[in-house]
Amino acid sequence: MRPSGAAAFLIVIFDIVIVGAGPAGLSFARSLAGSGLDLALVELQPEAALADPAFDGREIALTHHSVHLLQQLGTWRQIPPQGIHTLRDALVLDGRRMPGLRIDHNDGPRSQLGYLVSNQLLRRAAYAVLRNQERVTLLCGRRVVGIEPDGEYSRLQLSDGQQLQARLVVAADSRFSETRRAMGIPADSHDFGKTMLVCRMRHDQPHGQVAWEWFGYGQTLALLPLDEGESSVVLTLPHNAIQGLMAATEAAFATAMEQRFDGRLGRMQLASTRHAYPLVGVYPRRFTAQRFALVGDAAVGMHPVTAHGFNFGLLGQDLLAREIHGLAASGGDPGEARMLERFGRDLRRATRPLYLATLLITRLYTNDAPPARLLRRAVLSAAASLPPLRRAVAHSLMQAGDSRQAASPLRGLLHALRG
Ligand SMILES: Cc1cc2nc3c(=O)[nH]c(=O)nc-3n(C[C@H](O)[C@H](O)[C@H](O)COP(=O)(O)OP(=O)(O)OC[C@H]3O[C@@H](n4cnc5c(N)ncnc54)[C@H](O)[C@@H]3O)c2cc1C
Repeated sequence: MRPSGAAAFLIVIFDIVIVGAGPAGLSFARSLAGSGLDLALVELQPEAALADPAFDGREIALTHHSVHLLQQLGTWRQIPPQGIHTLRDALVLDGRRMPGLRIDHNDGPRSQLGYLVSNQLLRRAAYAVLRNQERVTLLCGRRVVGIEPDGEYSRLQLSDGQQLQARLVVAADSRFSETRRAMGIPADSHDFGKTMLVCRMRHDQPHGQVAWEWFGYGQTLALLPLDEGESSVVLTLPHNAIQGLMAATEAAFATAMEQRFDGRLGRMQLASTRHAYPLVGVYPRRFTAQRFALVGDAAVGMHPVTAHGFNFGLLGQDLLAREIHGLAASGGDPGEARMLERFGRDLRRATRPLYLATLLITRLYTNDAPPARLLRRAVLSAAASLPPLRRAVAHSLMQAGDSRQAASPLRGLLHALRG
């Protein structure tokens, strides 16, 4: 990888410029490294922040398909084994009722539903595998301030005055993507009016490697199992209430969390810094434009409750990279319109149903009015008593293999019905 600071104020030409070196942008660049194409990544943060990213509280639940992709990229083996945690089963709870809906690994073909890895380790690994790649230029500490597609190239203006040209620009610059906006792509966004607090906590009771999604009344809690006696805790509340908990002393915070968990985890203790994320879901009207495509959160900004943001990010970058590899092998144009259309169609088919389902789930399960409570209970009971549905969810998390097949939401259901 060539270092930052390439010849300023000349127009530098690349095949593909990727805007944003988050985990999705870095993974996409790694997918294309070695294809013979010249790539550049433009990133706001300094390179040191990519090489050694700070802990940000996020523990990413990864499907088997995502792990398969990370293995192909070489990213997986850069993650220390002690940083990879087992997600055996998942439990969905409503109000104070037990037992809730259990998504059991026994309903699928593998010994666990998925894996948990911190976003910090994923980002570090995604950078590490790109660091020594040929024909990849990293332009850090600057942003894209202008973009203008043209017949054969797109022109990009960077904040330091540098100009670039590329046959394809791929935006991976977060769900609030400035590049997507500059390209005039409208996006439907949904502000959930809530903020999510995430941190690690130690607790007395064992988690048994089972993740919880607990839709309480007045709060939503999640528990992601890490080492024995330690979990990532995720609490969703209105912003003001989260502010109070962010500012609370460690002891007061631990007491508040014990109460919020109804004492089910026994005594609890804060084990990391606390981080807050306002909840906004974003889904653009289209994923491509002239010599332009979206990947990562810039393409699909999921609510974290269904734990699919980065899983979709990996899937999307793989779908696009495969299309481009196919063209590059025959000397084709990586910005070809028909190929981009195909990619956009595949990504929509893969992500739209779960994006919409997630909106519905969060709307229903954060509504505490009496009729909604009845419906919440009825939906969960029905799901718990429908083995094909449970199997479909387990299968969709456990499937690996080709991204185009994984991109078919019907596939998991068919598998499950056959099973
Ligand atoms: C609390 C929480 C829990 C989550 N849990 C899960 C989970 O369990 N499973 C899962 O799959 N996903 C989960 N996610 C989602 C996951 O974290 C994201 O999908 C993923 O991190 C997005 O990566 P990205 O590279 O697309 O975007 P980002 O990580 O947002 O990176 C964007 C990059 O672009 C850069 N950038 C921005 N603007 C510009 C610009 N104009 N010019 C240049 N660079 C720019 C930024 O500096 C940044 O480096 C969770 C998210 C949250 C908040």
